[in-house]
Amino acid sequence: MNISFSPPDISEIEINEVIDTLKSGWITTGPKTKLFEKKIAEYTNTSKAVCLNSATAALELTLRLLGIGEGDEVITSAYTYTASASVIHHVGAKIVLVDTAKDSYQMDYDQLEQAITERTKAIIPVDIAGVMCDYDRLFEIVEQKKSLFKPKNEMQEAFNRVIVVADAAHSFGSIYKGRKSGEVADFTCFSFHAVKNLTTAEGGAVTWRDIPGIDNEEIYRQYMLLSLHGQSKDALTKAKIGGWEYDILMPGYKCNMTDIMAALGLGQLQRYPSLLQRRREIIAMYNEGLKDCNVELLKHFSDDYSSNGHLYMVRLLGKNETERNRIIKQMAQKGIATNVHYKPLPLLTAYKKMGFDIKDYPNAYAQYKNEITLPLHTLLRDEEVKYICTSLHQVIN
Ligand SMILES: *Cc1c(COP(=O)(O)O)cnc(C)c1O
Repeated sequence: MNISFSPPDISEIEINEVIDTLKSGWITTGPKTKLFEKKIAEYTNTSKAVCLNSATAALELTLRLLGIGEGDEVITSAYTYTASASVIHHVGAKIVLVDTAKDSYQMDYDQLEQAITERTKAIIPVDIAGVMCDYDRLFEIVEQKKSLFKPKNEMQEAFNRVIVVADAAHSFGSIYKGRKSGEVADFTCFSFHAVKNLTTAEGGAVTWRDIPGIDNEEIYRQYMLLSLHGQSKDALTKAKIGGWEYDILMPGYKCNMTDIMAALGLGQLQRYPSLLQRRREIIAMYNEGLKDCNVELLKHFSDDYSSNGHLYMVRLLGKNETERNRIIKQMAQKGIATNVHYKPLPLLTAYKKMGFDIKDYPNAYAQYKNEITLPLHTLLRDEEVKYICTSLHQVIN
């Protein structure tokens, strides 16, 4: 057996979409990207969507769009991938990390509430594994702390409270209390990286909820400027015969999506309902196969939420970091690739250098030390899922 962790699932549908683009004469941002944006907005029940080259770019441009920078604080979880926090650093704001709740992959909401100061401008909750955070609770907290909020510009005034920018890299297609990821947080940033549920190889998108007093077209235009050099015309418009002249309105960034990526995404989106269904089936098989194992399984479905089944996260009860690492090696010897989500940020050099100390994040450490993520992808066959379950049973003892 040789079971990889998360290979991309690419069918003839995606291949033909990409070929169509390659033959069309237009390969960078153009009609396919605009169509993909329209389809993402439809899928997430939002007015508009912006496609970019990563979730990281979506998060960073959102902080810039909101005018967050020097002197501001942004709160995120200690239990996440570096991108949730590095973007805060990129814009010049201060990173504030909150521990997870006990036995949870989500931030401790009480600690989060305490962490809000008069400098806090945004929080970046992370929808780990596709399970969406408790957004009702998050919005309750930012409402409660409203009096501390000091808006610096028109956008911040429109909110007049801490802004919720979701790191939804894992949660495209997930549902929270009947609402799709994308229409729940103020802004939602998706990743279409190769290992994510829906892929464009590299890629990302941002959606937002309508903001009273702010024109959606203006938000869209700001994202376009920020993502393409601050240029007054996009490449397609500029390429029209005689349309050479443009202006640069700000020294912008460069993180637009190409039509080749969008073509891949359009193909994936067509297949997405069946891909999600297959993930559900695999989760059910795992839950059944591991029910007699001494493990704690992440709950992907409840009355309140329905995950997109991005990651199958398992906690090996009673095991420490060394034992978990041994189990990962033994699984590898059986031909099974596994992973760990996540090494908390305070254990990583860059964050240690900023002064973060894992001692302040005991719950995040406890989640990490015995966590193992099993392969969960749509090329996985039933026999392979069974083999993984049997193998885990064997190596645990
Ligand atoms: C993958 C991932 C990102 C980054 O996504 P990119 O599209 O690669 O920028 C951010 N946050 C989390 C939690 C992720 O897993």
